Amino acid sequence: MLPGRASSATGGRTRTCPHCKATILESAAICPQCRHHLKFGADATAAQSQPGFSALKVEGILQHAARGGDWEYSVVLSIRNERGEEVSRQVVGVGALRPTESRTFTLSVDVVTPGGGKG
Ligand SMILES: [Zn+2]
Repeated sequence: MLPGRASSATGGRTRTCPHCKATILESAAICPQCRHHLKFGADATAAQSQPGFSALKVEGILQHAARGGDWEYSVVLSIRNERGEEVSRQVVGVGALRPTESRTFTLSVDVVTPGGGKG
């Protein structure tokens, strides 16, 4: 992908989901957080057929050791740019685990390429 501004003038524009208030891409037809449909008619058809790919999916399970006291956990997501600078850092969830309980955490990055294919 070329670094020019012309092809990415609208790339990365965001808006607020009217249902769950999450910050999402303006181009999204379905909110990735609450999964509500956001566009209707021809606009929705165009958005859903946007080229894209799943760039990353990581899943892991945290299982309590079944002895000792409760555990508390914080799920922290950080995003760094090509220079290693942190551009975003947020706590996306917190909770507690009692003995024998477990939680599965899934991180996915979905990419849309409105300006063309993945190169
Ligand atoms: Zn939403």
